Amino acid sequence: MADPRGFIKYGRRDKTIQPVQDRLHHHDEHYNYPSEEEVKTQAARCMDCGVPFCMSGCPLGNLIPEWNDLVYRGQWQQALKALHATNNFPEFTGRVCPAPCETSCVLGINEPPVNIKLHEVSIIDKAFEEGWIVPQPPVRRSGKTVAIIGGGPAGLACAQQLNRAGHQVTVYEKADRAGGLLMYGIPHYKLRKEKVQRRIDLLIEEGVNFHFNCEVGHDTPFAKIKKAHDAVVIATGAEEPRDLPVSGRDLDGIHFAMEFLPQQNRANWGDSDVAALHPKHQPINAKGKRVIVIGGGDTGSDCIGTSIRQGATSVINFELLGQPPLDRLESNPWPQWSRILRISSSMEEMQVMGGDVHYEIMTTRFIGSGRKVTGLETVKVDWSSGRPEKVAGSEKIWKCDLVLLAMGFLGPRPALIEQCGCVTDPRSNIKTDQKTRMSSVDGVFAAGDSRRGQSLVVWAISEGREVARCVDEYLTGAPSLLPKVRLETFVY
Ligand code: FAD
Repeated sequence: MADPRGFIKYGRRDKTIQPVQDRLHHHDEHYNYPSEEEVKTQAARCMDCGVPFCMSGCPLGNLIPEWNDLVYRGQWQQALKALHATNNFPEFTGRVCPAPCETSCVLGINEPPVNIKLHEVSIIDKAFEEGWIVPQPPVRRSGKTVAIIGGGPAGLACAQQLNRAGHQVTVYEKADRAGGLLMYGIPHYKLRKEKVQRRIDLLIEEGVNFHFNCEVGHDTPFAKIKKAHDAVVIATGAEEPRDLPVSGRDLDGIHFAMEFLPQQNRANWGDSDVAALHPKHQPINAKGKRVIVIGGGDTGSDCIGTSIRQGATSVINFELLGQPPLDRLESNPWPQWSRILRISSSMEEMQVMGGDVHYEIMTTRFIGSGRKVTGLETVKVDWSSGRPEKVAGSEKIWKCDLVLLAMGFLGPRPALIEQCGCVTDPRSNIKTDQKTRMSSVDGVFAAGDSRRGQSLVVWAISEGREVARCVDEYLTGAPSLLPKVRLETFVY
């Protein structure tokens, strides 16, 4: 145990964030991390509980008390080993994970929880700075080949695990870079793209092959990929966006979030063709526009922050659901994930600009002048019956020049699913056996958002690791030496 009285002696101290007025002028990461000494002090707050609920709050089963203790003692290399034992990419989760581990921390029952995410990011950032992260190619090759379709966090974690088990892995990625939503969804200011590319470069050095600009099911038939490999893992994410099919939807200036966000991420790379991933190659920019973002969550929040940085004149956000409570409800006790109001950095920026989130509001039509959207009409909804009932007389017109739809995703794109013949579940995700992770097609597995629906980076890595273990067993016909993700104790 770090310091038996650490949780009494020290309060929680977080990383700090640049003031809104400073961070609005750039797209770079905007957090300042505390010194190494301060991080060690923070680690002293861990109580090394007999039952570490933080671990069961984490979809990866991260060995949290162990690395907290090692951080406190300044044993950073051992802490790195413990961190990598369960997580391939802690520099991603250390930045963008909502940290369900912290809402399960025992100290969190009556004090601010241990700063677990800070320790995670401090360990891995130090490891990269010190040059401790080096490629780990396998000693021997098994002679088996695996195709992974999709290079997001699920595909990349799976690739690293299977490659380390000696199998020859090829990632087929439809975009021109790997990383999935880490690269083209999540904005640079939450996760610098060089950090994503750094991991992909390491995977290449470890011996993983990447084929970019290769959309399986479209320009490359699935059957060709299946025939060429001993096993296939589908990790294509849940890219089908939920639409808002109301009158005026076809006006110019109404776009899905994932038509908009990749463009700024490409611009941050210095790409001249920012709209290359847009289906109609259409550039979208919020500069000088009144923006309305429909839908919340990470996607809505990222549209808000990106629009503001591009120079939108105003940004407001609509949410169909009601405002979450400020504190846990009795029906949502510790150590469950707390379903409470969270103000993201982007929401804070929007509020400083005079905008806000409008809850319990439904968009009923878009209004245009010529071909361009100039506004929309909403109505308040009442959820007391359990369904959204329109409130008579609450109709309102809002002016806008750009509407971004961030209302969630409905599962993987249908083209590949139709070609591969995998059975889907009632939510259109690929159905797999819970234990073997194999789909209804022999030798075809699934992981990440394409299997569990729209989720989190931490879940994608967890799924990638677990499917790799299952594929290894399928290929070798023997119990895998790859670690099992401990999900039995998960408390979500
Ligand atoms: P993806 O990341 O979607 O990757 C799938 C990959 O497959 C993509 O690279 C895609 O191009 C490729 N692909 C698709 N079809 C094909 C095909 N037919 N052939 C070849 N390649 C194909 N989670 C968090 O934890 N924290 C956050 O802050 C956060 N922010 C988010 C912000 C946005 C805007 C969005 C949309 C999601 C966010 N999420 C966040 C969720 C998280 O990013 C996803 O849960 C996670 O990336 C899923 O990983 P994945 O590998 O399953 O899929």
